[in-house]
This record gives sequence, structure tokens and C-alpha cells, in this order.
Amino acid sequence: MRVHLDAIKDTGLHLTYEFDPVRDEGLADVEQSGEAVFLTPVIVNLELNRVGDTVEVRGHLSVRLGLTCGRCLAEFEQDVATDFSCVFVPQPEERRHPTPGDLELEAEDVGLLFFDGQALETDEAVREEVLALVPYRALCRPDCRGLCPNCGANLNTGACTCTAAPVDPRLAILSKLKTR
Ligand SMILES: [Zn+2]
Ligand SMILES: [Zn+2]
Repeated sequence: MRVHLDAIKDTGLHLTYEFDPVRDEGLADVEQSGEAVFLTPVIVNLELNRVGDTVEVRGHLSVRLGLTCGRCLAEFEQDVATDFSCVFVPQPEERRHPTPGDLELEAEDVGLLFFDGQALETDEAVREEVLALVPYRALCRPDCRGLCPNCGANLNTGACTCTAAPVDPRLAILSKLKTR
């Protein structure tokens, strides 16, 4: 969302809006790669305050994700939320025509975002936070037992027969001989 500087009064500006992650190009990879699906819009709460010629932003966002467990492959839903803050600074004159890579790296390094002095674009900050909310390896529950590597049974629903008793390899050979 583009926020004009004039809209931020001395007492600050509180904004609540929905950010549609499904239509956002920067977040398209999340669904395409199968990491997660967005089940709701992202609810964004922002508190913007002008401090000198910079704008300090404190935010909260939440969204419901559809995930696949990395251990047992079960699909599940999870509500995720985060608090964040960032600072927008006016883009210096000499940086108006830099190579894009340099600018992004520098801004990221010091945790600052640039704006043109007139209005700031909050989408980039929101996008970064949404990306950070997608778990690298989702688990349906912290103690998920996963699948048996041998028979593929879901061990959350009970032990499978092949884990019932560890077989002594010497006895295994014997039992094979017996059944011949
Ligand atoms: Zn699981
Ligand atoms: Zn098994």
C-alpha cells in the first residue's frame, strides 16, 4: 500500500488493511514451490510515525497457511503472525540512479527502506515478513513421528509391524533357513 507522507499526522497514522498474497508476484513462488498455500488474506496492522524526515513503522500481520508436514506428509492448517518494525528514510539524491543490486543490499544491510520523500510503499516490508513466516520445514506437531522408512506407515497412528521387535540379523538368517 502506498502511503502519502501528508496522511501521517503528528499523532501518527494507524492503518489496517488486507494484503492479498495470492495476487502478489513476489510471493508467487511460495505457492508454486509447494511450501505453503495462503488460505486467507494477510491482515496488516501498521502504526506509522514521522521522526524528522524518516518514517518509523511498527507492524503486526497474520495469515492462515496450508502446510504439508515434512515428516509424515499430512496436510494441515496453521495460523501464523508476527510483529515487526522498519524505518523508511528518504532516498539520497546520489542514489537515485544506482545499480538496483547495490541499493537493495545496502538498504537490507542496515535494516532501512528507502522512499522518495513523498510517499512510501509498505508492500515490500510486508512481503519480507510474510516470506519469513513460511516455515522452512513444517511439522504437523513438534513431536511428529513421521513415516516408517521401511513400510511407509504413519507412525502417529500407531506402531507398524516392522518396528514391533528389532530383529537380530543372525536370527533373521536362521528363520530364512527354517522356512525353506
Ligand atoms: Zn507430521
Ligand atoms: Zn514399518
